[in-house]
Amino acid sequence: MDIIPDQQPYIQEIPADWYNNKIAGLAMLRLDVIDKDISGNKWYKLKNNITTCVHQEKNTILTFGGGYSNHLSATAAMANKCQLNSIGVVRGKYKKLTPTLEYCKRMGMQLHFVSFEDYKLKDDIDFLTELSKIYNNPYLIPEGGANKEGRIGTERIADIIPNEYSHIVLSVGTGTTLIGIVNNSHIPVLGYAPMKGGKYLNDEVKQYIKPERQTSYLIEDKWNFGGFGKCNELLVEFMNDFYRSTNIPVDRVYTAKMMYGIKEQIFGGFFDSNAKLLCIHTGGLQGNLSIQNQLIY
Ligand SMILES: *Cc1c(COP(=O)(O)O)cnc(C)c1O
Repeated sequence: MDIIPDQQPYIQEIPADWYNNKIAGLAMLRLDVIDKDISGNKWYKLKNNITTCVHQEKNTILTFGGGYSNHLSATAAMANKCQLNSIGVVRGKYKKLTPTLEYCKRMGMQLHFVSFEDYKLKDDIDFLTELSKIYNNPYLIPEGGANKEGRIGTERIADIIPNEYSHIVLSVGTGTTLIGIVNNSHIPVLGYAPMKGGKYLNDEVKQYIKPERQTSYLIEDKWNFGGFGKCNELLVEFMNDFYRSTNIPVDRVYTAKMMYGIKEQIFGGFFDSNAKLLCIHTGGLQGNLSIQNQLIY
């Protein structure tokens, strides 16, 4: 199946005064422009999953996520685009749906709510067998698109990164995208985890990284702003400032924290003056809905 993007990703230079000329260059790979609803890295993970789903002659996708999940909303949109049914197993019960869940519903996703307790079973084989029975043997995608198809799909991102960069910089949730890029590139990769204790991902991803690249990545969790999904005035102000300087909208959960961290590291002398960084815009702008009235974009 051919899945056509709205727009090809491109590389956009960040003006040198944003980093005070402390390094040789900084640019952003705009994966967020690929599709308004299936943005960023989710496009690459899902495209490869859907191809496999269609090969297996299945017409329903079942996946998992919380009430604000970028993965859930991208899956709903991608399934809709490809005329497949989608089922979202949602963590928690909602009296009122979040904007993300409202969107998923509009895209035709059937929502299956489970308690926080049951949601912990999302990778448990008996739980999955039960869900498969209820929904007539759908194609299963784990939370965050974190499976082999996802890891292979995201290798394609490295194809569009020119060799001139000294570092690739990206935000990390499950680590799936980082794995794909590390395995298919020769450039060192820096990951920024937006959750407390996210450094554990350094070990978690290791099993999927090919031997010659095991020392070519590092995941930092310092700029988590209090934890996953947490956001404060400082971060919002940073997002607005970044937009003023670059015209690039970043998302509150992932890419804003990454750019905040990178800026602190640049000004703190972490990089030498020859460094040329390529930051990846992994999308996720739908997540800004909840702070829309505080943003200038
Ligand atoms: C899902 C997501 C990530 C995390 O991707 P992983 O492959 O799970 O590490 C990063 N940035 C954005 C904007 C996302 O939506």
